[in-house]
Amino acid sequence: MMKKYLPSVVILTVFVTVAVTLWLTKDNIFYLFNFSYIGICISVGLLLMVSGKKYARRFVQFAVGSYMLVYLGLMSRENMQIEGFWYYLSLGAFEAATIHYAVAKIFGPLIFGRGWCGYACWTAMILDLLPYKQPHEPRKRLGFIRYITFAASLALVTGLVLMKLADIEMVMFWLFIGGNVMYYAVGILLAFLLKDNRAFCKYICPITVFLKPMSRYSLIRLHCDESKCIGCGKCLRVCPMNVEVNKESRKRQNATECILCCECKKECPVNAIH
Ligand code: SF4
Ligand code: SF4
Ligand code: SF4
Repeated sequence: MMKKYLPSVVILTVFVTVAVTLWLTKDNIFYLFNFSYIGICISVGLLLMVSGKKYARRFVQFAVGSYMLVYLGLMSRENMQIEGFWYYLSLGAFEAATIHYAVAKIFGPLIFGRGWCGYACWTAMILDLLPYKQPHEPRKRLGFIRYITFAASLALVTGLVLMKLADIEMVMFWLFIGGNVMYYAVGILLAFLLKDNRAFCKYICPITVFLKPMSRYSLIRLHCDESKCIGCGKCLRVCPMNVEVNKESRKRQNATECILCCECKKECPVNAIH
């Protein structure tokens, strides 16, 4: 009975530990608030999930995603997009954006894979509201575009830093606003064109270049008991990311695309996915 609450307790403990450690080492109470808030949102979401609430994932996505977009990005004026990461990295600053990328997108995926994409991303928070929750067509071979957008973001910020602009902080703020408007516009357009809410994630988003390699070794992943599977294909049809989840191997097709949304698990008639 208590076992089902364990993930919630573990997540909260990890986040509070990070919160207190960063608060004390960096002497900044913001970190205590920030990581405790995120940890509480995720652990409440996990509690809702084990209680069978369908809106559990969406709750976490909105609670964390809107906090980052509105509070950190717009109100605190920290560029939380990949350009912000490059910029703060160029300054050698271990601040919100660099810490955020290190925790959520570079090293964290070793533990929770692409959990960021399923439970926290403010771009997907909106894209998931669109009508094409399950892709209507097989995945296209357009994933290479992500590497181009990744390189373009690095080149853009390198150029801006080399120009030594006096008001670069202001430029980064407006870049954050412009970047998000562009992400939403392209994401929504692609979703309707390709009839796939997550088309932007699959083909355009540069952050996946960080997310994918570590996700391959993720501690938390969806398992499939192939001896139970009756090959009905329901899990494959509902998967928004085209993961070959009815195979147990880490080498299953699109393995590093799983966003841990658990739609496949809900759909499996023989509980082969866990
Ligand atoms: S792939 Fe990019 S846009 Fe999609 S959920 Fe992940 S970080 Fe967000
Ligand atoms: S449906 Fe299953 S395999 Fe597909 S992304 Fe969600 S959790 Fe991963
Ligand atoms: S839904 Fe379950 S039984 Fe059907 S293919 Fe997937 S794992 Fe196998």
